[in-house]
Amino acid sequence: MYCVQCGVKLSDNEQKCPLCGTAVYHPDIIWEDEEPLYPKNKYPDKRKRSFFTQALLTAAVLLPLLIVLFCDLRFNGRMSWSGYVVGALLLFYVSVILPTWFKKPNPVIFVPCGFTAAILYLLYINGVTGGDWFLPFAFPVAGGVGLIVTAMTALLHYLHGGKLIVVGSTTIALGLFMILVELLMTVTFASISFIGWCFYPLVTLLIVGGLLLFLGCNRPARESVQRKFFI
Ligand SMILES: [Zn+2]
Repeated sequence: MYCVQCGVKLSDNEQKCPLCGTAVYHPDIIWEDEEPLYPKNKYPDKRKRSFFTQALLTAAVLLPLLIVLFCDLRFNGRMSWSGYVVGALLLFYVSVILPTWFKKPNPVIFVPCGFTAAILYLLYINGVTGGDWFLPFAFPVAGGVGLIVTAMTALLHYLHGGKLIVVGSTTIALGLFMILVELLMTVTFASISFIGWCFYPLVTLLIVGGLLLFLGCNRPARESVQRKFFI
């Protein structure tokens, strides 16, 4: 390193130029009594919202919920169609608004919460419509996707690096899961026969997942793609 003022050669531990006294900033060394040259937190936490905003968001969901419920009870004397709206609003609240109440919402907790809410909503619809598709179809499909996505979220959250490998494996798992979805559909609904539509999403997801795995394992290829797409 050289002094910016007089150009004399400086050693690494110099805080001041020995010749002209100009302060020396070494970009990689931060002295204990020195302010860092740049702020440590480049992206301040934007998720932090005031209590007022949170309360407003909650009211924005709660108010239509109550109005819908009131109208339905008033005109039909019981909860009929409003159940769907109430369920959908609750599902939206649990999966979108509820996590924002926390400073750093842990997706490993909130992702399965969202899926659980969705499963309960499906159970409700199944019960109201007198359907028999929840246990043999909706539950295993929503539960399976929920498990796969939760596993991916946990790996992405707790592992450092290897993100492409995790997303690639998840994509492949979802592709294979499509076979089960079609099988369950065929078994549950007598009118549907197995035509093998699942192989179209399966092949697509296998190709995409395989590509992500390849890029995750092959550093030169990954870097050349990053350079090409400026990411
Ligand atoms: Zn100097």
